[in-house]
Amino acid sequence: MGRYTGAVCRLCRRQGEKLFLKGTKCQTEKCPANKRAYPPGQHGEARRKKLSNYGLQMKEKQKVKRIYGVLEGQFRIYFKIASKSKGVTGKVLLQLLERRLDNVVFRMGMGISRSQARQIVRHNLIAVNARRCNIPSFLVDKDDVIEIKSKDKPKLKIRDNLELAKDRTVPSWLAFSAPELRAKVLRLPEKNDIQQQIQEQLIVELYSK
Ligand code: SF4
Repeated sequence: MGRYTGAVCRLCRRQGEKLFLKGTKCQTEKCPANKRAYPPGQHGEARRKKLSNYGLQMKEKQKVKRIYGVLEGQFRIYFKIASKSKGVTGKVLLQLLERRLDNVVFRMGMGISRSQARQIVRHNLIAVNARRCNIPSFLVDKDDVIEIKSKDKPKLKIRDNLELAKDRTVPSWLAFSAPELRAKVLRLPEKNDIQQQIQEQLIVELYSK
């Protein structure tokens, strides 16, 4: 699956809010979403208009895709799975995104951002239930154990990341042991476990048209 490779700060400015796509690096005064709080591009500052209902729905979908680094095709697959499930579609959609292995590695604090966590997974440093897994979109399940499988050097880097992310709390659906660099999935994530405000109902309305 592909991913967005452009400048991530543009995505926050386009969204009109801080999405914290650079993780701990976003806590700086230089954040472009603060300094230039208007959409990117030559006419960004002039082009500010009130959004229609459809526009709001699109904007919310873009926000979630940008936060989790997921492109349209895969996002639609998640929505399809969520709409066929027995649960509430919007909540299951968020749960699927939150269960992604790259997100779990980020939530553990082992990557300073989701994109860095994705790289850690792609570099084959992570094992799920003692088997290496380099698929960022892998969905973790209850009782899965996620841990680092690597020699010393990458481990040192990951410990640095943990130090940088020490103010971030690991969500309660994960039991994380920092000394062992290991987490166990205690339960599936719920909407309350997601820090950012997301109006998933708008996305459901958009796709239900
Ligand atoms: Fe977004 Fe972080 Fe860049 Fe600010 S610094 S615009 S929050 S990615």
